[in-house]
Amino acid sequence: MKKDIIVVGGGCIGLMSAYCLLKSGRSVTVIEKDDITNGTSFGNAGLLSAFKKAPLSVPGAIPDTLKLMLKGESPASVHPVFDLNLFKWLIKFAASSTQARLKRTLALFERYGRISLDMYENMVKEDEMDFHFCKDGLLMIYTEEKTFDEKAAHCNNPDAYEILSKEKTKEYMPILNDKVIGSILLKENGHIDPGEFMLELKKFLENKGVEFLLNEEVTRLEFEGSKVSKIITSKDEYEAETFILSTGADATLAKQAKNKFLMTPAKGYSITFKMDDSLKPKTSSLFADLFIAMTPRRDTVRMTSKLELGTTNPEIVRKQIDSIHKNLGQYTNDFVKEEMVEWTGFRPLTPNDMPIIGYDERYDNLVHATGLGWLGITFAPAIGKIINDVITVDKKNSTNEDILLFSAFYQG
Ligand SMILES: Cc1cc2nc3c(=O)[nH]c(=O)nc-3n(C[C@H](O)[C@H](O)[C@H](O)COP(=O)(O)OP(=O)(O)OC[C@H]3O[C@@H](n4cnc5c(N)ncnc54)[C@H](O)[C@@H]3O)c2cc1C
Repeated sequence: MKKDIIVVGGGCIGLMSAYCLLKSGRSVTVIEKDDITNGTSFGNAGLLSAFKKAPLSVPGAIPDTLKLMLKGESPASVHPVFDLNLFKWLIKFAASSTQARLKRTLALFERYGRISLDMYENMVKEDEMDFHFCKDGLLMIYTEEKTFDEKAAHCNNPDAYEILSKEKTKEYMPILNDKVIGSILLKENGHIDPGEFMLELKKFLENKGVEFLLNEEVTRLEFEGSKVSKIITSKDEYEAETFILSTGADATLAKQAKNKFLMTPAKGYSITFKMDDSLKPKTSSLFADLFIAMTPRRDTVRMTSKLELGTTNPEIVRKQIDSIHKNLGQYTNDFVKEEMVEWTGFRPLTPNDMPIIGYDERYDNLVHATGLGWLGITFAPAIGKIINDVITVDKKNSTNEDILLFSAFYQG
């Protein structure tokens, strides 16, 4: 029997699309090649960081990264592979790192960050989901005088920023040593436990009748004229009114529909551990000059870092884990990390921080929902809403103002 909506890929973007479509009365099936317990949407830092936080493609990104590379502290690396798509991605990244673009990106981040925060809050209050949603700001910790002074000079809105001395910063993060310069609390941001969020959302969707086909990989799309006629999986084949591709950093199926998206997998690491409660950070924190995040969770703390391009190998590379501990260790006193769990995942990264969302340009029952890069958790609710609106209300990209504003289809 023909299904209504099939969502391919059960990460945070696929599940939030399913959530919004369900609320609009649509019948949804999620097909996921794994079991929704350990993908990129699980092991990330869980920061909701849309406010006052610069995007990746920021002026100075390339010289700053090169400087850190020379010091051996760079979180970013590019594997030496011959990949034309990656080469084009890097060129576009460099070209996108402009002041004009930064201004627009920051405004868009705030617009969709606000929608997402409100939706998260609603899911907690009205749907009674519990995923450790905390709206207590993001502490940007600085280890370089110059970057701290530059940033602090622009922080004149007391509703959005609080500038903290070294001593005050240590109250938020008691493990810090004296090499830290100071910090800025970006008050409007927050954090969640992404794993709890995924499990709570899946449970909610299942209870409301969303069908989950797990451990089933979609291997092929079949086309007839301007439509996807069916999809073939490792177990069966299915027809649907509408297919949503939310396969994260894996663009295999989008390529079958002849799309050449400028999106690249960016490998990152997380290390989750138990530590003395009195030493835990008081809110989510980001070492701005090191690109290391530390998020307090109910019983643990999670550190995340690294951005490796040119690899799709998920294995944990010891050198990378060691370098996270070493880089952070320069600015902290010794503390005990117990029951450490190491993890890797791939950000679906576009060169200008714009997501790939909206109807396919060739097939009119195919919708894309990916390219959220390092901000998928931050924007997942807003993306789910946009995907729902374009399918149920606008029925095409060009009449949906969010897609016109925020989608890579229109923003390069
Ligand atoms: C180290 C690290 C830290 C991060 N920290 C943050 C943060 O603090 N805040 C934030 O907002 N974001 C963060 N992110 C980014 C965020 O995790 C991602 O943007 C988000 O998880 C992407 O979600 P997604 O649903 O697009 O992709 P995914 O979570 O990857 O989901 C895609 C799903 O599709 C499935 N799939 C793929 N192909 C097929 C197929 N053919 N058939 C069936 N299923 C398929 C995959 O198995 C996967 O489950 C971080 C990422 C990393 C790596």
